[in-house]
Amino acid sequence: MGPTQQFTPDQLRERYRTVLEENTYQGILFPRIHEEYERSRTVGFTADGLDAFRRSRLAEALRHAGQRVPRYRPLIPADAGADPLGALRSLPLLDKDTVREDPDSLLSDALEPDRCRVASTSGTSGIPLRFVVDEDHLVHTYAARIRMAVPFTGQLHFKLLMPFQGWLQGGWFEYVAPGFGLARMAEFGTTTPPGPDDVDLAVRAAGFAPDIVFGHPSSCLRLASALAAADRSLTPRAVMTFGERLLPGARETLERSYGAPVMDSYGMREFGTIAAECGKGGYHVEAERLWVEVVDADGRPLPDGESGEIVVSNLVNRAMPLLRYRTGDIGALAPEPCGCGLPHPALRLIEGRETSGVTLPSGRTVSGGEFSRLVRTRPVARFQLALYGDDLLELRVQSTGHVALDTVRLADDLTLLIGGELPVRVREVRAGEFAGSGSRKHVDIVRLPADEV
Ligand SMILES: [Zn+2]
Repeated sequence: MGPTQQFTPDQLRERYRTVLEENTYQGILFPRIHEEYERSRTVGFTADGLDAFRRSRLAEALRHAGQRVPRYRPLIPADAGADPLGALRSLPLLDKDTVREDPDSLLSDALEPDRCRVASTSGTSGIPLRFVVDEDHLVHTYAARIRMAVPFTGQLHFKLLMPFQGWLQGGWFEYVAPGFGLARMAEFGTTTPPGPDDVDLAVRAAGFAPDIVFGHPSSCLRLASALAAADRSLTPRAVMTFGERLLPGARETLERSYGAPVMDSYGMREFGTIAAECGKGGYHVEAERLWVEVVDADGRPLPDGESGEIVVSNLVNRAMPLLRYRTGDIGALAPEPCGCGLPHPALRLIEGRETSGVTLPSGRTVSGGEFSRLVRTRPVARFQLALYGDDLLELRVQSTGHVALDTVRLADDLTLLIGGELPVRVREVRAGEFAGSGSRKHVDIVRLPADEV
């Protein structure tokens, strides 16, 4: 099959190493993941019970941050536990730039490096952001993921398919993921535009017969059309989507194509899943481990039902507690309890994230996330894409300055990513040399006239 040849040996090695490390680590954590999954599944909170539980977790998180974390030491009084919500709301909002520019001020001085992982954002922002999570955070986020899937599959050890993964630049990849309930996973990707390779992959996907299709709405849709072209079908129990705004038309198409319910979730790499759909229309907040507020432009909490920026606090991660972290996303907390009976607050997403991208001459779109994944494993502090009509795609990179940046290699990989459809150039720039651009929420792409090349 064509796509496998486009996987460079280095990328293959890098990905295998990452999966191996992650899965080994998940395997070590699995007893705790399973225990937390069982606890959260069977606890059956009432609204009052959940409220008391999360307030006590919030009080704990604030006490820890006030004692152990430099940024919060002057901001959180010793008696914060008496009114944890009041103490939380008195904290300033935390934005990504602060995490980027002064991460040390957010690290616990009791941090145990052996029990932590460094993660980085998947790339809805043009500037890689690194943060530290501890085992408790991982145990809770993995358990939450399993809890989302099992109502559909009825058991652990299900089969899960992740279609058209951007990082997997060609080929098919299978493994078992302890952090997903010992699920048998298959992921695939391709660098070619929709066409014969998609059809081959769809045939293989049908042979795999997943219980769950798990991916960005655009990837799940692409697989649906490939299946139709291959005259094959899947019979998953559910399609679980994330990472992009799920538009109503896309939901209907997915439900019809796969003959299964679609369950969308909203999350960020910093927190894992923040809220997930229940089937009755609400996105329920992972309220046992996250505190979600909706605030106005000045950071003041808004009443339920009013829309504003979604701000999230992690109640579990002690290594680098993010409190009142700005997501840049707009939503509202539902004023009424959800019809499904779950006590967890429900979120209405007004404007989920949309991935910006570059549309190539063939009509194929490469998402911002794919460009971001290309640079985030390299010593790059910030990047910007400049598109000069159809004449040139320029990648401007600011090096972190610690390690030499191999721009020739980067240019080769960029060419691969866009299937050679445009000439590319990689240019190292200084901080002040990026073309003016507003939003830092999306990958930074500027469009320039071709004659300015
Ligand atoms: Zn509900």
